[in-house]
Amino acid sequence: MERRMDLRRLTKTVFRDSILASQLAKLINDYWRLLRSNGVEEVKIMNFCGTHEYTSTHYGIRNILPPGVSLVAGPGCPVCITPSYYVETAVGLALEGFTVYTYGDAYRLPAVREVKGCRSLSDARIAGADVRVVYSFLDAVRDAASHGKPSVFLAVGFETTCPAYASAIASEMVPSNLTLISAGRLTPPAARYAVERVGTVSGVIAPGHVSTITGAGVWRFLPEEYGIPTVVTGFEPVDVLIAVAIILRQLAENKPGLVVEYSRTVTIEGNQRAKKLLSQVFDVVDSAWRGIGFIEQSGYALQENFARYDAVKMFGLREPGRDGWKNDLLPGCICGRVILGAAKPTDCPLFMKRCTPGTPYGPCMVSAEGACSIWARLGGRERLVEVV
Ligand code: SF4
Repeated sequence: MERRMDLRRLTKTVFRDSILASQLAKLINDYWRLLRSNGVEEVKIMNFCGTHEYTSTHYGIRNILPPGVSLVAGPGCPVCITPSYYVETAVGLALEGFTVYTYGDAYRLPAVREVKGCRSLSDARIAGADVRVVYSFLDAVRDAASHGKPSVFLAVGFETTCPAYASAIASEMVPSNLTLISAGRLTPPAARYAVERVGTVSGVIAPGHVSTITGAGVWRFLPEEYGIPTVVTGFEPVDVLIAVAIILRQLAENKPGLVVEYSRTVTIEGNQRAKKLLSQVFDVVDSAWRGIGFIEQSGYALQENFARYDAVKMFGLREPGRDGWKNDLLPGCICGRVILGAAKPTDCPLFMKRCTPGTPYGPCMVSAEGACSIWARLGGRERLVEVV
């Protein structure tokens, strides 16, 4: 306990230290000048994860970067990329009398197609459906066991969230009345997609929490196959500044590599127990990402011997064919480009007009990790530096 308190104090004092932040800003400028002298005009670094986008925006990190160095958002927000089909399925089941569980972030996630006049689980609840917001899958497991009614969990999430589903299923804790809409996704295939299709990413700030489970080794392909400097990073402002400095240094020295900056929790191998549970319960399959489309080997599907937990199979629902996942955004929403770093939230003509945190029109405006929501709440580039 004492050690945990020490770590927390250390994190706040060291990783939010203004003098250290100023020194790093100077170092970043020095590396940038070196790059400029080598003819480099622009460096685009992807905040793969929504939480890094939050740190960058909240602490005004963009304000202290040289003008040619930009931080762009990535597809690392699990709510933003959950296909509309899953929301529509959950809404439909809720309106048919199922108890539907969801995390708070996904509660207001808007679908493309309305189901009986409802576009989200929030709408369904207003219409009288039994929709319950939970903090964790285990809360839903306990609650469903206590009432015994047919229930469904909208199981969104990345490698960090999915081990909780796998653990409860493998240990037979899930009651027979509870099934899952399995919408879990793997992040490295999305990073590969982003750098291949968008093509202008010079460096990647890789997700710290995901890497705690997967191990940092899953990001090796970025420097090795694409020559992109990659830093697995923590979530304090100094963490992000260190990552930017390392990426610029590697670019200046033309030595792209993988660095684990978040070594206070991430190893190369990751959490073996969690990874074993995931492989026992889920198959890795080609899957749809909202606003992007199909990405090979990027989703978790419940294995055949756990089919009784699969809501889509149990209730005879039909997932759309490969083409059916297209047009997964409402007209005018450019979330697909925002989460691939090809556009800023403020490039969207609907930003803070038709689409606000209070009235989200697109999926990136819902979650606390969504780039549009973060820019709307924290002011994007305009936020002042707040390192203390
Ligand atoms: Fe989509 Fe709203 Fe973001 Fe525009 S502002 S890209 S509509 S989420």
